[in-house]
Amino acid sequence: MSGIPINSAEFTGMYLLWDKNNGVQTGMVIDFPAYLKSISEKLIQKLDPNSSINVKIEDNNGRLIFSRVIKEGTGYISFPFPENLPKWKLLLNENSPGFVATLFKAGSGIYLFIFILIALFMILGFVFTIYTLNMELRLNKLRSEFISNVSHELKSPLTSISMMTEMLHHNRVLTEERKSAYYSAMLEESEHLSHLIDNILDFSRMDDDRKKYDFIDLDLDELLLKFIESTRESLPESGFDIRYSCPDRVPIIKADKNAILQVIYNLVDNAIKFSGTSRQIDISLFSKDDELLFCVKDYGIGISGKDQEKIFDRFYRGDEPQRLGIKGSGIGLTIVKRIMEAHKGHLTLESRPGEGSTFCVHLPIYKKTEP
Ligand code: ADP
Repeated sequence: MSGIPINSAEFTGMYLLWDKNNGVQTGMVIDFPAYLKSISEKLIQKLDPNSSINVKIEDNNGRLIFSRVIKEGTGYISFPFPENLPKWKLLLNENSPGFVATLFKAGSGIYLFIFILIALFMILGFVFTIYTLNMELRLNKLRSEFISNVSHELKSPLTSISMMTEMLHHNRVLTEERKSAYYSAMLEESEHLSHLIDNILDFSRMDDDRKKYDFIDLDLDELLLKFIESTRESLPESGFDIRYSCPDRVPIIKADKNAILQVIYNLVDNAIKFSGTSRQIDISLFSKDDELLFCVKDYGIGISGKDQEKIFDRFYRGDEPQRLGIKGSGIGLTIVKRIMEAHKGHLTLESRPGEGSTFCVHLPIYKKTEP
């Protein structure tokens, strides 16, 4: 069998010849263009409908014979048909669907899952970094405010003590009555200084867990009576009426005396500081269930709901005291809270702006086991 290719302007074909020996000659002309067109259409119909390949077939004059274009693009790669076939071209081009679409098309969805997971981690990481940075900035701001507040608090009693000492030293205070008033004011200021320094030292010890407690049997009623007595003596001119009630005998507790004194001092000092125009403070001691409660109630400026959530945080000072120019360091309540935690107790607060506040310390009562 032999074959002779035929190429003409109209069509490309092949002349085939069989069996020369017995004199019979058979020929066939194939209309390649028509044939190719029909099989291309059939073949291309079988292509994966999700495939992103654009397919075109053009004849030798650039006329479109067939096309399956999903989304027209540029940069087709051209493949000429093999020799002896019409001089057509197969043009292929990948229709790129974009990053997100590619991800969504990814067969099993695993790539999409991994992508979402990584994106989620990145977003979480970003949010966490911003949050930590914000907290750090806020704490730094509070820390520098604390240093300036403490310097102020240390400076003002020192200034008045040195002024009064100078007046007394130069005999400028003439009457015995005035002298006695100066001495008690100096005593009060130095006690205030000493409490402030105790607060700062304890705060730093608590911060790095160096604070040690000495738990002993403590009669809180007796301790409070003494404390209130000395506070009344140190505040003769301020007009404060400090009332104390302890209706029943209360049990002895196991506690650190100095730490509990610091709790009492801080709560009563705050009640005095934030009393506004009110001059009454009620202190009560009573037992309830398995707890001994010690409460300090004032009728002063009160605390807003927003501030109530934050006042136990280190260095935090309420908006209202700052607006009113009331001095403070912002560590008193943090110390009270930490002392309570060390005693396995807790603090509660009830307050309304403009009506006053009640801070209650709850201490556990340990029942003595009979021998
Ligand atoms: P400081 O009194 O030095 O500011 P504290 O830690 O003792 O610091 O108190 C934190 C904040 O709690 C105060 O700045 C104030 O806003 C609020 N606060 C505490 N006690 C009272 C109170 N009895 N009445 C009103 N506000 C109070």
